[in-house]
Formats: sequence, C-alpha cells, structure tokens
Amino acid sequence: MSAPGVVTRPPKILYVEDDVASRVLMSRLLLNSGYEVVEAEDGLSGLQVARRERPDLVLIDINMPDLDGYEVATRLRSLPGLEHVPIVAVTANVMAGDRERAITAGCDGYISKPIDVDELPRQIRAYLNGRRDVVSAKQRQQYLEEHTAKLVKRLEENVIDLKEANRALSKLDKMKTDFVTLAAHELRTPITLVYGYARLLMHNDAVTGHPQAMQPVKDLAHRIFDAANRLNEVVNDILNISLIDADEMELDIRPVNLLNVVEFVLEELNPLKKGRQLTVETTGLDNLPHIPGDEGRLRQVFWNLISNAMKFTPDGGLIRVEASAVEGEVEVIVSDTGIGIDRQEQADIFKRFYVIEDTAYHSSSKTAYMGGGMGLGLTIAQGIVKAHKGRIWVESEGRDSGSGSRFHVMLPLEA
Ligand code: ADP
Repeated sequence: MSAPGVVTRPPKILYVEDDVASRVLMSRLLLNSGYEVVEAEDGLSGLQVARRERPDLVLIDINMPDLDGYEVATRLRSLPGLEHVPIVAVTANVMAGDRERAITAGCDGYISKPIDVDELPRQIRAYLNGRRDVVSAKQRQQYLEEHTAKLVKRLEENVIDLKEANRALSKLDKMKTDFVTLAAHELRTPITLVYGYARLLMHNDAVTGHPQAMQPVKDLAHRIFDAANRLNEVVNDILNISLIDADEMELDIRPVNLLNVVEFVLEELNPLKKGRQLTVETTGLDNLPHIPGDEGRLRQVFWNLISNAMKFTPDGGLIRVEASAVEGEVEVIVSDTGIGIDRQEQADIFKRFYVIEDTAYHSSSKTAYMGGGMGLGLTIAQGIVKAHKGRIWVESEGRDSGSGSRFHVMLPLEA
C-alpha cells in the first residue's frame, strides 16, 4: 500500500498489434485491471511509441507486416532505457519452438492467443514483478543462428527492393525532367510569335499614325508584349535548370569586371528599387581585379541575388553589395535588412522549386514585397557559380530576426 498522500501511477503497458479487434479487446482488459495502456498498430510505430512513452511493459504480436514481433523485440532491447523493460510476446503461434524463438529474440515471456481473460491479469502482474522465462543455452544458440540468418535474409531482400525502387524513381525523375525540358523547348516558338506580333502591332502604321485614337490598342499590345516577356523568362529558367542538371552549361569565359556586372543589374532593377523606396549601397567593386567568367551568366547570378534581396526586404530597407579580393578569390556579399531565413531552410532554398512561403499566398509579381517566383532563381545562381568553380551560401540569424540575410559568392581569380 502507498503512503498516505503519495499518488502512485498505474504501470504503463504498450501493446503493439496490427489487428484492430485484438487491440481493442486487450486494451479493455488491461484498463479494467487498472493499467495505463498505449497502443501501436505496427512494429515501426511500436518502436517510436516505446521511445516516447517509456512503458513499464511491452506486449507484442508476433505476426505483423514490415517488422515482425521478433525483430521489434530485438530492437527494443537495444534502445537506451528500454534494455530491461519486460517484453512479452502475445501470439497465436503455437508451433514447436515459437516460445524459444520469442525468448531468444529478446522477449521475457510468451502469452498465447486466444487470451485467457481470467488468467491475463495474473500473467501481466507476474512479468511486471520480475518473471523472466528462459531457454537452455543449447536452444538459445540454435534459435539465435536461425534468427540472425532470417534478419540478414530480410536485410538483403530490403536492400534489393530499395535499389529497385531507387532505379524506378530515377527513371521517373528523368522522364519528368525530359518532359519539362521538351515542353519548354516547344513553348519557345509560339512565345516568339506572340512576342513578334505584339511588337508589330505596337509599331504598326495604323497605330502609330493615329496615336490618340489607337492608344487603347497600343496599351493592349504592350500588355501582350510584357506577358510574352515574362513567359519567356519562365521558359528560359526551366531550360537553364535542365542545362545545369545535365552539367551542360557552356561558359564564354573572358576577363570580367564585376563592377560592370553589378552596375548593369542595378540599372535593370532601378525601377523596382525606386518603386519600393529601397536604398542600395555598393562597396569595394571598383578596386576588384578582373576574374575569368561568363559576363552574361554572372549577371544572372547577381540579378537573382539582388532582386531577391529587394523582394524580401520591406519598403524603405537597405541592400548592400560588398566586394573584396581574398586569397585567390573574389568575394561578393549581397546583404539585406529583410525578413531573414531560418537556419534549417538555408540549404534547401538552393534546391529546385523550393520556396519558403506558402505558394497559395504568392503574388506572382517579380517586384512586389514577398512577390513569389518558381523557386528556381537560387538554383540557377548556384549552378552558374559552381560552373565557375566558385561557391555560394547564405547566412542569416533566422526569419524575423531583424538582421536580414547575407548571400556570399566566392569566385576564383584564376580560371
Ligand atoms: P524565386 O526564383 O522564386 O525567387 P529563389 O530560388 O530565388 O526563388 O529563392 C527561393 C526562396 O528562398 C524564396 O522563395 C524565399 O523564400 C527565399 N529567399 C531567397 N532570397 C531571400 C532573401 N534575400 N531573404 C529572404 N528569403 C529569401
């Protein structure tokens, strides 16, 4: 009996069983006997629940798909803190050797199904109080060999299945990439036509000859032209990704002055900067040595970094582009006073199609604060930097930390 005022908690029993009816019955019986019960519907979740709940006793069904009861018992025994918890097999297996198999695998006892309702509370109490069934050393040796051989066979089968699944996944991935690339290629021709006709319309004599009357037509043609332009950028991004994936990005390497690159990009982004009252500061670019690089591709890198810095910084914020030459490399840091990026996202944002924000709330504007994109900009920037044998990474204290993000680009001084 417990001392007055001391509340003793009932022993906690974990029951791992894939059959719902058996689970419900056993849980009722155990609850009626005053135990706390936690359940798991298969071996893998049984291991998880055991780690989390630290039960005082585990009951396991033997015949389960995926990990069977023998395997779960062996694994449970090796989990820190669960080495000594009583494990009892509950099973309808009544073949010769089943009891010995269970004990050799790590169980302390064996309760056969169908459960003897009157006997169960006594059996459970006995195992909780320290009952441990044993097998002879000779039997243990024999069943241990059988258990080990079975485990290795299962491991081999699983490795074969996994390899097969990986092969199938790679094939599917390639089919998807091929399809996306093909679709992007096919879209190029109609986009060029829309682009060309919109331009023709804008400059058509009938339109330019009657500027006032035809203004609405000119405006519409302008919108078609802008939309085709945007579509073209999307298609180009997809084609760039397929070049990077196939390691086929060809670079036109010449001496590049990064000052020109950044100035070109800032000029292009000037309307965005002004519209959002952002300040851009540059330092160190005019003292840099030339680097061997592809100027057009490097513009893409800094366009993506600087436009992201603008997109993810609230109106009135500050963007810095700082450059310096360090030990055989040039370092350019694009930093902002924006929303920042959590540490666990910092590697993922360089992956294809990865965007942190919920895409359901994206505005597709390239310029608006938090405007959404396809999640390809940084993948392309990384692909181009790597093709130059450089490195790119981000540092940030985290989302909403107030200190923004710093993107580092390192490019070698020698080809
Ligand atoms: P997109 O081309 O759609 O802009 P990116 O690959 O350039 O995609 O960026 C992926 C994601 O990384 C963005 O959706 C955003 O969540 C995050 N990100 C990129 N740059 C910044 C930044 N300067 N500040 C905060 N988040 C950023």
